[in-house]
Amino acid sequence: MTGRIGNFKAKCPRCGKTTFESPAGAKPKPEDKLTCTGCGHVVRHKDLVAQIGKEATKRVEKVLGDMLKGFNRRK
Ligand SMILES: [Zn+2]
Repeated sequence: MTGRIGNFKAKCPRCGKTTFESPAGAKPKPEDKLTCTGCGHVVRHKDLVAQIGKEATKRVEKVLGDMLKGFNRRK
C-alpha cells in the first residue's frame, strides 16, 4: 500500500518539496523509504525525522542567540 504524506515538515534534500510517497501509508516506520513526489529522491523516514530535529534545534538556537544579544545590548 502506498500513501501520500502531505503536510510533512521535512523537505526533500534534493528539490525542497515536502510531499512524499510512503510504502506504509500515512504512518511510516523509521526504516521505511519515502519517495519524493517532486524528483523521485528516496530517503529513509528516520533521516527526515533527524532533519526536522536538526532544524528545530537551529531555530531554538537562533531564538536563544537573539535573546542573548538583547541581554548584551542592555549592559
Ligand atoms: Zn525531491
